Amino acid sequence: MMRELETSLKNLQTDYLDLYQAHWVCDDDVLDEVLAPGGALEALRKAKEQGKVRHYGITMHRHHKAIRRAIESGLFETIMLAYNALDEEGVGPDLIPLAAERDMGVIIMKPLSGGRLVSPPGSAKPDGLDPVVAGTLREITTNPSITTVIPGMVSTEEVDQNYRAVTTAHAFDDAARRRLFETIASLKKELRYGQLCLGCGYCLPCTEEIEIPKVFRALYMHQSYPEDQRSMGRELYDSLGMPADACVECKECMERCPAGIDIPERMKEAVAAFGRRAA
Ligand code: SF4
Ligand code: SF4
Repeated sequence: MMRELETSLKNLQTDYLDLYQAHWVCDDDVLDEVLAPGGALEALRKAKEQGKVRHYGITMHRHHKAIRRAIESGLFETIMLAYNALDEEGVGPDLIPLAAERDMGVIIMKPLSGGRLVSPPGSAKPDGLDPVVAGTLREITTNPSITTVIPGMVSTEEVDQNYRAVTTAHAFDDAARRRLFETIASLKKELRYGQLCLGCGYCLPCTEEIEIPKVFRALYMHQSYPEDQRSMGRELYDSLGMPADACVECKECMERCPAGIDIPERMKEAVAAFGRRAA
């Protein structure tokens, strides 16, 4: 870590950095290494004592148990997490508020889902702002638990648009949230099977009390996460009070889904992926 820091200082031609983060601490084993005697945390502390960094933090993906451990350790001043309205890594409901409660700086990466959350080229952009980008950035920056966001920008025009999006004084209320999800749904971005679940929760309540968005999240993790993290999908699925096989195909949820997902069919996919279990 100290060697990496010296390289960064040299390349950036500076004596100190405002913030330095241990990047991609992806699971419990890597976190153990960071925290161990002689590990990265020791170097970060030393660098702060020497005035080479002013603050230090950690960046993490997906692994909720390790993320919670890092937050609850109280050892880091910031945490960088991947989050946007789709919340593909599931950190929105609990982990981001927990970090804020612990007075950590919460930095959001991947706010535009690696470039998926943008309108198609050539679409009309009222006031010059891309409604998907602007809505997504507003949803993030109006969250009181979030400190800042780091969208990638490739031109001064994008810098200008992002700046205007987050400084425009529109409240991000329920109507704006629904508009954003409807706009994203209209993009009809395909995932592995049909339409992507947006995690918006408008399909609820299910008549059989199935937690539909969580079933989709478990399925997504099971199908799309790196090999060594796929078991998290099953863990989430097994933790649900009502399994997907409880679906009676009433289709009431479908009428409320802005993404037009054939929910009962996808429940069958979840059953095929995770097997049947008693409710
Ligand atoms: S179709 Fe299935 S998932 Fe949708 S409300 Fe009915 S029982 Fe629930
Ligand atoms: S199934 Fe549809 S309504 Fe339900 S969370 Fe997913 S996108 Fe939203």
